[in-house]
Amino acid sequence: MSAGGSSPHLPRTAECVIVGGGVIGCSLAYHLARGGMKPLVVERATLGSGSTGRGAGGVRQQFSTEVNVRVGMMSRHMLERFSEEIGATADLRQMGYLFLATTEEEAEQFRRNVDMQRRVGLDDVRYLSVDDALQLVPDLRGDDLSGATFCPSDGLAGPNEVTLGYAAAARRLGAQVVESCTVTAIERDGGRVAAVVADGQRVATRLLVNCAGPYAGQVGALAGVDVPVRPFRRHLFLTERFQLSKSPPMTVDFHTSFYIHPEGDGLLLGMSDPAEPSSFDTDVAWGFLEHLVEHATWRLPPLAHAAIKTGWAGLYEVTPDNQAIIGEAPGVPGFWLCCGFSGHGFMQAPAAGHLLAEVLLGHEPEFDIRAFAPDRFGTERLTPEVAVI
Ligand SMILES: Cc1cc2nc3c(=O)[nH]c(=O)nc-3n(C[C@H](O)[C@H](O)[C@H](O)COP(=O)(O)OP(=O)(O)OC[C@H]3O[C@@H](n4cnc5c(N)ncnc54)[C@H](O)[C@@H]3O)c2cc1C
Repeated sequence: MSAGGSSPHLPRTAECVIVGGGVIGCSLAYHLARGGMKPLVVERATLGSGSTGRGAGGVRQQFSTEVNVRVGMMSRHMLERFSEEIGATADLRQMGYLFLATTEEEAEQFRRNVDMQRRVGLDDVRYLSVDDALQLVPDLRGDDLSGATFCPSDGLAGPNEVTLGYAAAARRLGAQVVESCTVTAIERDGGRVAAVVADGQRVATRLLVNCAGPYAGQVGALAGVDVPVRPFRRHLFLTERFQLSKSPPMTVDFHTSFYIHPEGDGLLLGMSDPAEPSSFDTDVAWGFLEHLVEHATWRLPPLAHAAIKTGWAGLYEVTPDNQAIIGEAPGVPGFWLCCGFSGHGFMQAPAAGHLLAEVLLGHEPEFDIRAFAPDRFGTERLTPEVAVI
């Protein structure tokens, strides 16, 4: 950490430089350090102050692609063991995720998802009738619903807790984690990564991992690498103290992307805006709240009595197929990517950090992660994730 506003002192060489100290960079740092490497994490602001600190904390295994279900299951097991392994809480609350379908096509997609998820090993997920969904959340408007899915081992965890827990554990194992320090240049020698420059200091390295979240494209450009990650603003709003007749699980109205979950003594409300253009803007567009409230009160009429306490916005880091990018950049040896998590990076961080560390340490990852390969773009190997919120 920098002291008294001066730049942190960086080493002249590092086995690995991780650009970005969000949940992804910190998870990777911990998993590399556990495997014997001593990475340097360079964060330009404070740990977890980017997208990580603005998220909703949702942790789910219900996805439409097999690889994301596997990543979700691995992350959930890692979060269940987090305090034992890391020595700090992950604030895991497994209250389940309820997905609501309104069209027949969505209900059909949900059935296919559940079949695939169970085949992959997600034993506790199930397809629900509308009546079953209403038992879980009696305040729902159900007359236009066509079906639902529920997985009780999904839930919420604490983005700050997980990020800072991984960072502290990484430091204990010999990683160096610096804040208030910006990577401004990446040097290449004969094509491969040779050094980074941060706050005017040069650190020679043959291994760099771009964990810059929504800024991954900018960090890629420093090395001449085109990283197809685009930033999109997303809002969250917190109600004053408010309770539904029964405390709900994380509940997602898939058709509109409106979702709620309990947060403290109120509810957290979120929804994406399909009309939102790509930008780095994180100002709250209060006009959007009206739009959200319309959907919220349609799906959960008692919300008409809730008052909004506060709201904030952060950035999703979206790729063309809504799948993360994990692997070495084509044609630039030593330049690795672990970014583009498309709005599900917090829940994927434990497994993503572990799986990439395995690859970088020369081990075989537990399952095939080629669906995340950076060279898939522009080919027919894209398997878009459709269970995005
Ligand atoms: C409103 C909202 C709700 C969300 N809800 C969920 C959810 O429920 N569940 C879920 O799994 N995900 C959710 N997400 C997505 C999740 O927050 C992100 O996928 C995840 O935090 C990405 O982590 P990251 O470490 O890649 O990025 P970040 O946390 O953004 O970290 C990247 C870091 O890189 C640093 N950086 C950038 N450029 C440089 C540079 N040149 N030099 C040094 N440092 C640099 C930044 O300062 C930043 O701290 C949500 C996001 C938003 C905005």
